Amino acid sequence: MEKTTQLYEGKAKKVFATNDPQYVIVSYKDDATAFNGEKKGTIVGKGAINNQMSNMLMQMLEKHGVPTHFVEQLSERETVVKKVTIVPLEVIVRNISAGSFAKRYGVKEGIVFDQPTFEFSYKNDDLGDPLLNTSHALALKLATAEEIDTIRTMALKVNDLLKDYFAKLNVTLVDFKLEFGRLADGTIVLADEISPDTCRFWDSTTGEKLDKDRFRRDMGGVEEAYQEMMRRLTGEGK
Ligand code: UDP
Repeated sequence: MEKTTQLYEGKAKKVFATNDPQYVIVSYKDDATAFNGEKKGTIVGKGAINNQMSNMLMQMLEKHGVPTHFVEQLSERETVVKKVTIVPLEVIVRNISAGSFAKRYGVKEGIVFDQPTFEFSYKNDDLGDPLLNTSHALALKLATAEEIDTIRTMALKVNDLLKDYFAKLNVTLVDFKLEFGRLADGTIVLADEISPDTCRFWDSTTGEKLDKDRFRRDMGGVEEAYQEMMRRLTGEGK
């Protein structure tokens, strides 16, 4: 499969058309942004790590019955995925308080929830991705009630699978963001990426942050954290 024209360039990825209208090629960049694009930087090697990590995780999820957009990895940074129209919802699942949850509700980070939480943001950079509930999503016709049901069930299943998977790597899955897409026939599949850009990972023993919070919060050791997550996933260098 070959890239033809560039369809889109986002903050962390470029998307190219191919000779087959069912497929597109995603190319992962090292560019990093935070706080709705206010903070910009480069995380050297991030594109290659996020591409390969996301593909490994998508394949694991597929094996356990979660439909995804993944088709085939082409190179370190490039992957063929099914062409979808993205449902404009950021779907966030949390197991432990952190980030905007801790800020919004005035609680400390690190509170372990009895049950995972589930929330949506409206995927709209101009508005700063505002939080919304199901009735708002329906009123705005962002998705149908049936689609929202499917997305919720899939997101919670993804949480169960990822939590167990990372626990075996001594990594605690704190929270993450998913995006879903519609295939041409309307089927909902998991799309976008699953990586240290979109998840919070804490070392289960030390609590050390192994994700993009190191970049957001200027903690240093950003590249090393991404590399460490990749090392644990591939089992290399142990
Ligand atoms: N997240 C993301 N993209 C966003 C916002 C959040 O991937 O635009 C991820 C983030 O990395 C974290 C989870 O979603 O794993 C929950 O993020 P939160 O709502 O706490 O927002 P943040 O504190 O990152 O602004």
